[in-house]
Amino acid sequence: MRNHNDSQLLFDISKPGRRATRLPACDVPVKPVAELLPAASLAASTPELPELAEPQVVRHFTNLSTLNMSVDTHFYPLGSCTMKHNPKRNERAASLPGIVDLHPYQPEESIQGMLQLLYKVQEYLCEISGLPACSLQPAAGAHGELTALWVAHAYFKDNGQAHRTKVLVPDNAHGTNPASAAMAGFDTVTVKTLITGAVDMEDFRKKLDDNIAVFMITNPNTVGVFEPQIGEIAAEVHARGGLMYLDGANMNAILGISRPGDFGADMQHYNPHKTFSGPHGGGGPGAGPICVAEKLRPYLPAPVVAKRSASEGAEYYLDYSSTKSIGRVRSFFGNVGVLVRAYCYIRSHGPDGLRRVSEQAVLNANYLLSRVKHFLPVPQGERCMHEFVASAKKLKTERGVTAMDIAKRLLDFGYHAPTIYFPQTVPEALMCEPTETESKETLDAFAETLFRITEESPELLHEAPHTTAISRPDEVTAARQPTLCHCG
Ligand SMILES: *Cc1c(COP(=O)(O)O)cnc(C)c1O
Repeated sequence: MRNHNDSQLLFDISKPGRRATRLPACDVPVKPVAELLPAASLAASTPELPELAEPQVVRHFTNLSTLNMSVDTHFYPLGSCTMKHNPKRNERAASLPGIVDLHPYQPEESIQGMLQLLYKVQEYLCEISGLPACSLQPAAGAHGELTALWVAHAYFKDNGQAHRTKVLVPDNAHGTNPASAAMAGFDTVTVKTLITGAVDMEDFRKKLDDNIAVFMITNPNTVGVFEPQIGEIAAEVHARGGLMYLDGANMNAILGISRPGDFGADMQHYNPHKTFSGPHGGGGPGAGPICVAEKLRPYLPAPVVAKRSASEGAEYYLDYSSTKSIGRVRSFFGNVGVLVRAYCYIRSHGPDGLRRVSEQAVLNANYLLSRVKHFLPVPQGERCMHEFVASAKKLKTERGVTAMDIAKRLLDFGYHAPTIYFPQTVPEALMCEPTETESKETLDAFAETLFRITEESPELLHEAPHTTAISRPDEVTAARQPTLCHCG
């Protein structure tokens, strides 16, 4: 049981005059601020701040940290998000003084180690994707999508093909795909998928025409199915002069096994915070590096990290030379901290280790699927890649129990909920991605808990969770009109 006082605001326990530290009186003459700054720059009144002793502050924040779930405290089978264990050696490496003490305005000669690391990350990402050129700048997966679509836009414009305005997106795609297409100025056209999760080829062919710019596909897709017709789709898009974009959020299923560049992708983004174990609870920071085909290289954001022979100066440098570049999409070098963790992750696994990561991720997902499907049907069938989508539709019809009820009740048992109501093509969807870092014992216990929940009384489930500090907030209001301050 949690102590509900945990969620008290610091203001509630503030007492005038209470302090964590008292500094000795200053023994050098100081001028009053009013003499140093113009009156217009000064605040009219002193800000109201909570006044507290250090133990209260420490308890407050430590207690707050326990209100949330994290991969370090709980099993976190959030589908599509790859909440795997974040190896602690990555954290140690990312906090080495030689990395955290760098300043992005330092001269290139003094940051050769960092540039070399970033250059290597570019190389590894290219090798894993089977695409030859890379930009590390985008700051998140969605930003990578947008950047790649800008690259595509610049490519078509440069080649006299500005009439290409259509971006095709399957109806089970992540919401960021159509959003990125719209933000990049394209018209989004939705392509239907079948109950198996695969693209409906008839609908695809109906919508494919000479105005196609890009087909954005997630493969394996969001229902955990490797697109069976990916070869045909890519060939038909290419025959019409379009480009194939791979949403790489699900790379955890295919590392070292199949490469997007080999199955027809011209561009892809990575989510290093998912696939390469960057911690990403609470919304970031992430990264969204992109890899592209050779013909798209000139349009990549500048600078890219490049290498030259020692006789020409510092070996690694920032290359701004492409006149066709779409320009910067992010300050400095991108979210370097996440890229350092990705570097460590890739290097510590090596090629064979990365392949084992995906094999194990797929095995774990199939094991969990084989246990769950008996009480929560999985419309896409008997096999999956790294995740699967179960449906609570039957439970809802028969007993009024929804995916939301199940997700909320799982919190009482110490599990983070799966992703729910996504993709929308599966009614009452519960999308589970166990990842490779969970043990068989954890998967068994989770499956047993899920089963137990499906047997519980609807009344108990509608009111869940019962043991958390907050039970069922009004999620829409919480998201649209969050109360972020103590307003009396
Ligand atoms: C997570 C995800 C994205 C977006 O990535 P962010 O890094 O969260 O911006 C895009 N597509 C899919 C399928 C995803 O799972």
